[in-house]
Amino acid sequence: MCMLSDPSVKYRPYTPLKLADRQWPSKTHNSVPIWLSTDLRDGNQALAVPMTADQKRIFFDHLIKCGFKEIEVSYPAASDTDFSFTRSLIDNKKIPDDVWIQVLTPAREDLIRRTFEAVAGAGHVIIHMYNATSPMFREVVFKNTKAETVDLAVKHTKLVARLTDEYSEKYGTKFRYEYSPETFTQTEPEFALEICEAVKSAWGKAGLGINRIIFNLPATVEIAPPNHYADQIEFFCRNISEREKTIVSLHPHNDRGTAAAAAELACMAGADRVEGCIFGNGERTGNVDLVTLALNLYTQGIHPKLDFSDIQACIDIVNQCNDLPVHPRHPYGGELVFTAFSGSHQDAIKKGFEAQAKRHAEARAKDEPLIWDMPYLPIDPMDIGCDYEAVIRVNSQSGKGGIAYIVKQHLGLDMPRKMQITFYKVIQEMSDREAREMTLDDITTAFRRSYHLGGANYDGRLVLRSFKISGEPILDPIDQTPYVDGEAPDERRRFDGTLSVDGVFRVVHGDGNGPLSAFLDALKIHLDIDLSIREYSEHTIGDGKNAKAASYVEVVEAKREPGQRQEGWWGAGLDTDIAGSGLRAVLSAVNNYIGDRALPELKLSVGFTARSGPADVASVILNTLQLDLPRRLQAHFFESVQRASPEGAIGYDALTTLFKKMYGFTIRELPLLLQKFTMEHLGDGEVRSISATVFINGQEMVITGKGNGPLSAVLAALAPYHDGALTVREYSEHSIGEGAGVKAASYVELVYTIDEGGQPRRLSCWGADIDEDISVSGVKALLNAVALHVPLRSKLVNGAV
Ligand SMILES: [Zn+2]
Repeated sequence: MCMLSDPSVKYRPYTPLKLADRQWPSKTHNSVPIWLSTDLRDGNQALAVPMTADQKRIFFDHLIKCGFKEIEVSYPAASDTDFSFTRSLIDNKKIPDDVWIQVLTPAREDLIRRTFEAVAGAGHVIIHMYNATSPMFREVVFKNTKAETVDLAVKHTKLVARLTDEYSEKYGTKFRYEYSPETFTQTEPEFALEICEAVKSAWGKAGLGINRIIFNLPATVEIAPPNHYADQIEFFCRNISEREKTIVSLHPHNDRGTAAAAAELACMAGADRVEGCIFGNGERTGNVDLVTLALNLYTQGIHPKLDFSDIQACIDIVNQCNDLPVHPRHPYGGELVFTAFSGSHQDAIKKGFEAQAKRHAEARAKDEPLIWDMPYLPIDPMDIGCDYEAVIRVNSQSGKGGIAYIVKQHLGLDMPRKMQITFYKVIQEMSDREAREMTLDDITTAFRRSYHLGGANYDGRLVLRSFKISGEPILDPIDQTPYVDGEAPDERRRFDGTLSVDGVFRVVHGDGNGPLSAFLDALKIHLDIDLSIREYSEHTIGDGKNAKAASYVEVVEAKREPGQRQEGWWGAGLDTDIAGSGLRAVLSAVNNYIGDRALPELKLSVGFTARSGPADVASVILNTLQLDLPRRLQAHFFESVQRASPEGAIGYDALTTLFKKMYGFTIRELPLLLQKFTMEHLGDGEVRSISATVFINGQEMVITGKGNGPLSAVLAALAPYHDGALTVREYSEHSIGEGAGVKAASYVELVYTIDEGGQPRRLSCWGADIDEDISVSGVKALLNAVALHVPLRSKLVNGAV
């Protein structure tokens, strides 16, 4: 079997109603119908496993909470569960005074009587009787003529009328009567009218207000487009006698998927009341969804008199009681209905929110209503208890707007448009590669990683450890910082900072007409990174004490190829201080620019016109060897560096090697080398005696001496081997590291004498070394200085003591 090439041989089209002057198409749907929930009856009977009494109670209470005033609670004659459920509501007084319960009964005497027993003692009851009126049912199912069909309805309506009198008298119950010509939409319109007129007469009690008789006109099966149903309803409304004494009720099913449309058009056509179910449960394709109808009205600015402020609670009740899910794309309730995946939608929503925030601020100031007007969102999700979290979700179809929205919502960062495009590519590439939806966490983590924001985990190769901006304030379009306060604009700014470059600290300086250009200058001088800023923007996040500055920078290569489009690299920075956030943004962009390419060896400029001085040279040694050189040693070393660098520049590695060679630091190939060292206190004074095993040109020997400390004792031990005075001018030491791994670094400046053409001449030299033992470190430093500079007598040199 398959679809027919000509379905007209199998299916007949509906017969349109000839209603030449129909009024409904030009009406608007602007009044709230009476709602009846038939979840507990029509909905329940459609379930694979009908609800238990407990489930019905939970559902009933929820319907009350939503604001339903008419609830069809059961078909009591059909099942004991329904009968006893109805009784329990009444006996336990669970029905609020302003709520009418409705019960369904077929037109059969015993079942009608049983139905009355079920509702005995209730306050407000609608007895709902039905019989099928369409030709198919008359001719095939019941084999009744039209007259017999009318008789059946009339006879049983009379019975209902008698019983309502009886029960009213006995229990004080207020009764209303609802009659359904079942299969109304498939019934000849004139016959439906005829049978309803007969029922109204038989009832004999139709009046105004609560005494109106309810004619429920079901689309038991939806067989035609919604306009046809509207025609049928308008025809009925215009022709039923004493219209003011009737309530015309709709009961649309959803076989063609247009139940909601049918209900809305039929309301335009004059109907007063709608029967349906929450989220459209019900036989086959379901009853009309009352949530959709109610919220459709709500978005027209009309309160539907039903409250779905907590739509998730409704979904939960339906799941729990019906064991049926709500489709993810079900109007209003589905989990995806406020979600935009596509880029253009996200972009529009993001812009919509921004524009609306402005519009609302203006309206608030003028005390005007805050009108909701958003692209793609007909209702504010907040109104039905949803938040904006789910509004924008990201997959490979998503665009920059949505991603930018998420970054803004969750990191507070409002990227410039061009940066959005760059970051969007990162996410799109990730989403394509992993073929899945990007979570919030994916996006924020990718942002941090891409722009090196949010702690050490996200650091790039270059990290700004500390900085200082000095110089007079200037005004520059790129560097409008708080330093600007109307000073003369021709002052320069200087950047002094420490960068970690691939984990090694480097001290850098630069000049420019603002902090950012001074920083770029430093990167150019020290790292050969020559970039300029193409775009810069900033904004604050938060206010008061917690306010932060966010900056965004796009850098381009400063040397541009003529006529070529320049590639740009983006960066973002966040700091409590606006200058800091700008510098961090530049560094973030620079990190993206350098990627993993090799950086040039860092060079210090040490020529006579150099910017670097002794302190810079010392910083290098501090960063590479962790040595904190004493000031005079800094000066000494700087001079040595200048002498050793005829080109006026020296690399960091060369500088470190030079330091070690100059001061014997950790060099183990010196002509004088300490092997072993013991020291004793003599008596109870300050005097110490040392005995040191040393290698002299590879030959082991022991020297001894006394002094008031290890250094003077060693000097005393060496005195016999040196002509002239040998004294310590400066000694200093500091520890390196902490705890068990701590070491001592020592620096010794020695003054010694040489013979220069018979004249003694005093000279000085430095030694430096390191050891776990602080005394040993001092002795090593001293011996290094001696070994490298001090001429010793040959008897020691030759090892002949
Ligand atoms: Zn139904």
